[in-house]
Amino acid sequence: MARIAVIDYDKCNPDKCGHFLCERVCPVNRMGGEAIIIDEENYKPIIQEASCTGCGICVHKCPFNAITIVNLPEQLEEDCVHRYGINSFVLYRLPVVKEGMVVGVLGPNGTGKTTAVKILSGQLLPNLCSDNDSWDAVIKAFRGNELQNYFEKLKNREIKPVVKPQYVDLIPKAVKGKVRDLLKKADESGKFEEIVKELELENVLDRDIEQLSGGELQRVAIAAALLRDAHFYFFDEPSSYLDIRQRLRIAKTIRKLAESGKNVLTVEHDLAILDYISDIIHIVYGKPGVYGVFSHPKGTRNGINEFLEGYLHDENIRFRPFEIRFTKRSERKSQEGEILVQYPKLVKDYGTFRLEAEGGELYVGEVVGVVGPNGIGKTTFVKMLAGVEKPTEGEVNWSLTVSYKPQYIKTDYEGTVYDLLSKIDAGKLMSNFYKSELLNPLGIPDLYDRQVNELSGGELQRVAITACLLRDADIYLLDEPSAHLDVEQRLAVSKAIRSLMAKNEKTALIVEHDVMMVDYLSDRLIVFEGEPGRHGRALPPMGMREGMNRFLSGVGITFRRDPDTGRPRANKEGSVKDREQKEIGEYYYV
Ligand code: ADP
Ligand code: ADP
Ligand code: SF4
Ligand code: SF4
Repeated sequence: MARIAVIDYDKCNPDKCGHFLCERVCPVNRMGGEAIIIDEENYKPIIQEASCTGCGICVHKCPFNAITIVNLPEQLEEDCVHRYGINSFVLYRLPVVKEGMVVGVLGPNGTGKTTAVKILSGQLLPNLCSDNDSWDAVIKAFRGNELQNYFEKLKNREIKPVVKPQYVDLIPKAVKGKVRDLLKKADESGKFEEIVKELELENVLDRDIEQLSGGELQRVAIAAALLRDAHFYFFDEPSSYLDIRQRLRIAKTIRKLAESGKNVLTVEHDLAILDYISDIIHIVYGKPGVYGVFSHPKGTRNGINEFLEGYLHDENIRFRPFEIRFTKRSERKSQEGEILVQYPKLVKDYGTFRLEAEGGELYVGEVVGVVGPNGIGKTTFVKMLAGVEKPTEGEVNWSLTVSYKPQYIKTDYEGTVYDLLSKIDAGKLMSNFYKSELLNPLGIPDLYDRQVNELSGGELQRVAITACLLRDADIYLLDEPSAHLDVEQRLAVSKAIRSLMAKNEKTALIVEHDVMMVDYLSDRLIVFEGEPGRHGRALPPMGMREGMNRFLSGVGITFRRDPDTGRPRANKEGSVKDREQKEIGEYYYV
């Protein structure tokens, strides 16, 4: 076994642990050895992996959980690609890049996907986990591997990379001006008209970047990447903030790019979209912030199934102790409990936008998925239910409190995560119930000491979801809780919402575009139809099967269930299955 020791120096605080507690308790040190030494200059401990026996005592004793020690198979050592420094994150292996193919990457946040992309785009020279400082050595290390040729070209500057970043919300801070000018400048391929049309950007061309919504920013960023004339294209989470129709549209456009002979790599956590977009996939496994390993390339269907299974067949590696399975929620009985609210037909007319919501009822303890395009009136509907917005027609003569997590989260809070959450409900942070149902599964205690305005998008999302669920309310409305979360986090959030609603006897409405997550978390569905920004119609809450059929027939996409895992898979348009299902009107659950 090879041993790696990683210290999270952001958490390590030698003064507060009683002066280098780890060094004092280490049995090797106590016997006069030097498994842990003190870096006097930086005032930090260093674990010398060669002397450490892996006993784990320091790991348990450190009050700030700053130390991780893992034992890895010896043979991984020769595949070590990059280590950021002593006791830092280690990356093993890289994904392949293939001309004419979309290579998908699937794995938790913090396991080195961005690091791999930085290497493949030439921004980071991998040190091969020693002191390497030349591309020649990298080429040598990858001799006989598909990447050898690629690295030769990269060294000779024959590869031009383009990256669509993960956090599109940050773009307005870096880029100013009109969308048209930005895209014109990016247009090296002469495909401006075509791409603008495919991504439906006609109406935003004359807007300022800073006026765009997240979904618009996402499409502009994807368009800017597609317009470049490059060799290697990387799309980091292209689906966030897009509704399902837009997700499939960008997936098709990205596929077309690969089919024209380009190398395309994409990280995507919406499994239905990853499945649809990729020719092959890599699973990345490991321990976030500690190490990451790229699996061998796999066929898309098998790869995703192995990921859900938590077991890599070729490599004979179990990377998760449990399997993720999808129950057939269509078979779930719709709720027949206590009614929270029975609402009549409600209309809201803003002049430019009109929403008609048909009457219905919501039950206590249920989770209702809300599906439909962006800008169709979903938020308006809930505001009327809550009595915040007065309907133009119909009457709301009750008052329900709503706790709301918006789709786009602002970060102007000054203070730590703990400050923010304890102001909402300090008692719940201490309660075992909330710890086991919400806080621990979402990894919140690890974030307590962090400044809210320094969190990454995924961390902020988890904090915002937690804040929403800690508030006392009758209805919880969460808009796109999946954005920037990896698959396991999405499932953890889904489970937390379901369990809190059931046990606290509350009701949740979840706006979601990730079909897998909608499937995993909803008891029933409210489907919105219409023309975004102009008029919308909300159907009464209905069972999953009826709702999914209604929703997907409006979008024109059919899904089938994977026989092994039960996960939803999008059928390719015009395929035999697609045609068969459309004919019998079963867009889902056949
Ligand atoms: P992913 O894209 O899968 O979320 P990243 O490649 O961004 O993962 O990062 C993996 C880990 O590498 C991070 O958890 C972080 O701890 C570490 N890391 C990233 N950049 C640096 C750096 N410049 N110095 C030290 N550690 C880093
Ligand atoms: P969704 O939640 O489905 O994205 P919203 O309910 O937020 O949709 O908005 C639906 C439409 O109503 C949008 O076109 C939005 O611009 C418009 N709208 C929302 N609130 C107002 C308001 N207070 N005045 C005028 N128009 C509004
Ligand atoms: Fe103290 Fe933990 Fe840092 Fe060691 S790693 S010095 S035990 S805070
Ligand atoms: Fe020392 Fe054990 Fe920690 Fe290694 S794991 S540094 S031997 S206490």
